[in-house]
Amino acid sequence: MKLHEYQAKDILGKSGITVPNGQLVTEVDQATKATQIINGPPWVVKAQVHAGGRGKGGGIRLVQYPYEVVTATEALLGNRLVTPQTGPDGIPVNQVLIEEGVEIDREYYLGMIVDRSTACPTMIFSTAGGMDIEEAAASSSEVILKEPIDPAAGWMIHNSRNLLYNVDPPLPMGAVRTLMAVMGSVYKIFMTLDCSLVEINPLALTRDRKVYALDAKINIDDNALYRQKELLLLEDTREKDPLELMADKYHLNYIRLEGNIGVMVNGAGLAMATMDMIKMAGAEPANFLDVGGGASEDMITKGVEIILKDERVKAIMINIFGGILRCDVLARGVVAAARKTGIQVPLIVRMEGTNVEEGRAILKDSGLKFFVAKDLAEAAALVARQVSEKGLKN
Ligand code: GDP
Ligand code: MN
Repeated sequence: MKLHEYQAKDILGKSGITVPNGQLVTEVDQATKATQIINGPPWVVKAQVHAGGRGKGGGIRLVQYPYEVVTATEALLGNRLVTPQTGPDGIPVNQVLIEEGVEIDREYYLGMIVDRSTACPTMIFSTAGGMDIEEAAASSSEVILKEPIDPAAGWMIHNSRNLLYNVDPPLPMGAVRTLMAVMGSVYKIFMTLDCSLVEINPLALTRDRKVYALDAKINIDDNALYRQKELLLLEDTREKDPLELMADKYHLNYIRLEGNIGVMVNGAGLAMATMDMIKMAGAEPANFLDVGGGASEDMITKGVEIILKDERVKAIMINIFGGILRCDVLARGVVAAARKTGIQVPLIVRMEGTNVEEGRAILKDSGLKFFVAKDLAEAAALVARQVSEKGLKN
């Protein structure tokens, strides 16, 4: 789960990291009021979306006059923002953060992730912070310093020394102590809130040697949300695909893809293999849908319904290996969904495993038209033929 910048800054601020004063607005007519509360000029008007690269996409506006705060807010609110990290359609801007502008002397990057190669929470620091950090990291990786933290020992002061004393040129006097404190706070936030990412970029140094978190990203590990109930209240689902939201509700793993074959499978590994087979047969999946090991009849029905709500879907392929999920349960779910939706697209089923004969009989006796493939290769070939030009004409 991703937090918005304003939410992340709230958390940083509460743990003692300096963040600029700001005001969140959701309507243009709140903007003028914000300029009266927030120090300026300059002001910074920032689109609140779950994507980075906003500066490069016009989502961050540094302005000098109150009327410009209003026009910048107007330009962002209610529109879609395209950044190098969004798709070409962009994402909707529902909220804007108006902040006091800070005069930046230097921009640093500070981040924390779990590094898979060392299996340790790892702090990342760079003096090449700001909007071009990705390019800097790609062209000269030595500007990016990494410090794995032994989770048993926790954060130790030498961790920050390793990061802060090894930069070239050295950090200005007066900045090191504050940066050390910021690092300790970031580690604590990362661990106590079950984060998968905490990132401050830029972590800005002013000429009078104050350190400000000017941008903030916090992502929470979804698997820990059951014990982070307060954070769950901060979730903003408005940027999510409505079908993904519906799938979440029924505990289905659904991800939208670009093709036109609806796919339903049990188990992520089987889903990957199925998508490979579809692609090898010359077609493109419209989605990834894993109903999981122990799906119920109702979950199967909901899965098919979700796939059918996607208007791009021209054929459906269901590939189930009946283990805990029995083939008869699957078949009943599919028949129920087909009846309920009055399905108009061809549906190809390949199933094997527990109660497969019973499952096949249920499909056959339903009176509905299903293609039952004898194996995965045949299923993939069948579904691909349905959406090929020849298949569509027939
Ligand atoms: P991002 O592009 O999505 O990472 O958005 P940021 O919040 O990082 O803003 C982009 C850039 O705008 C930053 O890298 C800064 O250079 C600049 N910026 C953000 N806030 C301020 C500010 O208060 N003062 C100044 N001068 N620049 C700012
Ligand atoms: Mn940033």
